[in-house]
Amino acid sequence: MSNRTFPRRTLLKGALVATAAAFNPSSRSWAATAAPESISLPPLDGQLVMDAETRARAADDYGHIVHRTPWAVLIPGSVQDIVKIVRFARAHGLKVAAGRGIGESHSTQGQAQVEAGVFIDMSALSTVHDVDETSAWVDAGVRWIELLEITVPQGRSPPTLTDFIELSIGGTLSVGGIGGQAFRWGLQVDNVLELDVVTGRGELVRCSPWRHSALFDSVRAGLGQFGIIVRARVRLVRVPPRVRVYTAMYDDLAVFLRDQALLVDEGRFDYAEGSVVPSGGQYSFQLEVAKYFSPGAEPNDAQLLAGLSFQPGTLQAQDSSYFDFANRLAPLIEFLKSIGVWQLPHPWLNMFVPGPATRPFVQQVLAQTPEAELGQGPVLLYPFHPNRITAPFARMPPGHHAYLFALLRTAIPPTPENVAALVAKNRLIFEQLTAAQGKRYPIDSVPMSHADWRRHFHPHWERFVLSKQRFDPDNVLAPGQGIF
Ligand SMILES: Cc1cc2nc3c(=O)[nH]c(=O)nc-3n(C[C@H](O)[C@H](O)[C@H](O)COP(=O)(O)OP(=O)(O)OC[C@H]3O[C@@H](n4cnc5c(N)ncnc54)[C@H](O)[C@@H]3O)c2cc1C
Repeated sequence: MSNRTFPRRTLLKGALVATAAAFNPSSRSWAATAAPESISLPPLDGQLVMDAETRARAADDYGHIVHRTPWAVLIPGSVQDIVKIVRFARAHGLKVAAGRGIGESHSTQGQAQVEAGVFIDMSALSTVHDVDETSAWVDAGVRWIELLEITVPQGRSPPTLTDFIELSIGGTLSVGGIGGQAFRWGLQVDNVLELDVVTGRGELVRCSPWRHSALFDSVRAGLGQFGIIVRARVRLVRVPPRVRVYTAMYDDLAVFLRDQALLVDEGRFDYAEGSVVPSGGQYSFQLEVAKYFSPGAEPNDAQLLAGLSFQPGTLQAQDSSYFDFANRLAPLIEFLKSIGVWQLPHPWLNMFVPGPATRPFVQQVLAQTPEAELGQGPVLLYPFHPNRITAPFARMPPGHHAYLFALLRTAIPPTPENVAALVAKNRLIFEQLTAAQGKRYPIDSVPMSHADWRRHFHPHWERFVLSKQRFDPDNVLAPGQGIF
């Protein structure tokens, strides 16, 4: 059990803040005090922040490409504040977007932003409420790392982790949440047991597979369209304290993909990922797999690696604690922040490719992607089993295997022209992906039309629309996704 303090108070010192505020429907502006023609908000436990600097910060994200400025930022002091703001917005034709934090969203195309509406800083609600052997009740603003800090000493972990664990639990449950354990466990949305949701109607509802299941199925990977997740009960599994990570290189894509598919089918490892490594105009491929273990029961390397066809002399193995493994990107990210790369534009492209199409598709994309267009960003390539994914709106390609293929670009030079060219390139590759029956992981930077979204959610588009009508009939929530 941990109670965290309000993280933003010091940042907001001196900002224009109000625990009671008023909205003027004719000028469509906010004020800290009510003018005669304005409508007062009900009193809040938290604060509504309206100063220009905070609103400008809320108009940014990890992509640094799209900027939409809200009229106000809610720092909720309670779940009831979110209920009040959504009801107020619904009554007065305002839009609302929830996100990990002010300017701290990890989306790359403004997905968590809102133009002239209210942005809700979910990081203000970040308490881990209750942890038992098999699950934890957490506020949606809790970051996965904060949960792990509590559960790992107890020998427990969520089964699937994202590579980067500073993401918010509400944020990844709204998009999917994939990592190297997904081949076995599915996505993070497949490992959530119950959710507390403030719907677009402004109703607080607890949902699960057995209770309000239509809402449960809608909000998991629902891109924030139906409700704001305020609390989640996430699954925990027992994990050993140590992890051995193996990396090895391949120069042949077909052999690399074949070995990866074999490993996830046999389940020899607890984690399986991989990446494409540019080397002097060519590309080679790095396998990255991990086995969890307890001291005294070390993994049998020869058995685990038997029959794999990586290049001799390229195998490396390293042991670490489970927590350090889960948090393995932290030193790299600190470095990227220190040299300013974190602040550069990131026109990412994240794709799910059907197994049989993966080799020709990856070859085609790499052939049209000069190394300079990656800006030294990594290119992820790893398989999982789409049939493990139960959330209907987490759209996946058909078949027994699918591969996550992600061009995690940094735009260098960071000029608007280069960014626009890379986004246009993403769009072109997205069309090739669609032709290959692949699906986009919609956290990235691809301009989408209404017809694209229809195709994306097919054959669940009608269900998606019905859920919108049912749970957010006035289209209040998450406009930054550009779906409705
Ligand atoms: C460095 C980096 C590494 C990453 N690694 C991975 C990875 O390994 N695996 C993976 O799957 N993804 C990964 N991502 C992508 C990440 O999952 C998405 O960016 C995702 O959106 C979560 O980020 P966030 O918590 O910042 O949410 P945000 O970007 O703030 O929000 C994402 C969407 O969800 C909505 N939303 C946010 N909170 C809520 C809520 N409580 N209720 C309802 N809707 C909400 C927002 O409105 C928005 O539409 C990575 C991103 C970065 C930048």
